Amino acid sequence: MQFIDLKQQYKLIKEDILNEINQVLESGQYIMGDKVPALESVLTEYTGAKHCIGVCDGTKAILIALMALGIKAGDEVIVPAFTFIATASMVALVGATPVFADVDEKTYNLDPNKLEGLITAKTKAIIPVSLFGQCADFDAINAIAARYNLAVIEDGAQSFGATYHDKKSCNVTTVATTSFFPSKPLGCYGDGGAVFTNDDELAQKIRWIRVHGQDKRYHHALLGLNGRLDTIQAGVLLAKMRIFPQEVALRAQVAQRYDELFKNADCITPFIASGNTSVYAQYTLLVKDRDGLIKHLNSNGVPTAVHYPIPLHKQPIFTHNYHGQDLSVSEKVAAGVISLPMHPYLDHQTQDKIVATVKDFVG
Ligand SMILES: *Cc1c(COP(=O)(O)O)cnc(C)c1O
Repeated sequence: MQFIDLKQQYKLIKEDILNEINQVLESGQYIMGDKVPALESVLTEYTGAKHCIGVCDGTKAILIALMALGIKAGDEVIVPAFTFIATASMVALVGATPVFADVDEKTYNLDPNKLEGLITAKTKAIIPVSLFGQCADFDAINAIAARYNLAVIEDGAQSFGATYHDKKSCNVTTVATTSFFPSKPLGCYGDGGAVFTNDDELAQKIRWIRVHGQDKRYHHALLGLNGRLDTIQAGVLLAKMRIFPQEVALRAQVAQRYDELFKNADCITPFIASGNTSVYAQYTLLVKDRDGLIKHLNSNGVPTAVHYPIPLHKQPIFTHNYHGQDLSVSEKVAAGVISLPMHPYLDHQTQDKIVATVKDFVG
């Protein structure tokens, strides 16, 4: 059994993928070839965002967004305490200070009620993460941000394809980022990512930063880096986008079936807030004895993963950024979450086995 079965998808669209890759190989345009703008245009159409800038990965997407916003040493950026490290580490990498906010009990996304108390004169931005495939509460977060004149960066690495009140993830904030790491809902065959915005000036800066801050050839208007998306990966993503809407629907079916099968089990299944649809990057349970359940599942051939076992304020690189604010929900959730195998092609028989093995243990 696979945690995320990527080979099944490959078998399904092999011809299209190989054709896309072959076109790149034949074209000789391996860096910033035609597939990159072609993909960007498909993704703007899909999300509704005005601009999409393909970049080398989801981590650098966050870094580039922060650089384009001019976030620098002395600034503070509010991030959830319960997320993948990159959300906060890129803030530190530009010299700014990540300030940790607690998450909501039910969605595990940044809790807007915990936000205002953390805002200071140094606060410049908020990075809500749309964790496990569902958007954070952007109406509430954007309203607070507007009041204090803060930028909002959606870390949409896990939520590409999700909707928030009928708008797509990556089109609900000042700027948004996503990742095309192979196991994400939309993944390529290596590293990849994208930045989205409706702001023309910001989009221009992001495009420049992606190529060493270059506005004209060998003329550097901004501090930048090599943040380009590979042309071959853009081709792979073009092929995958052709089946992506279908896969989003399949993911929802798999998740709904999990929900039904776990109805009376002693574990907490994903809570999707009203107005949201999730792409279920993960199907994550909250349980009492997580370590016991992992052992039980693994010894019965069911792979699992923990996203994420340590809240960020307890990470060695960030303990000095923690000033005693209440992060008890993040701590509780980090201690009890476990993700189950989840992908669009999970068959009923395999899913039944997973659920039965979990129920054996949790009751
Ligand atoms: C995967 C992920 C990233 C980083 O994306 P990469 O493409 O692996 O660099 C950032 N934030 C979150 C929430 C993620 O899940």
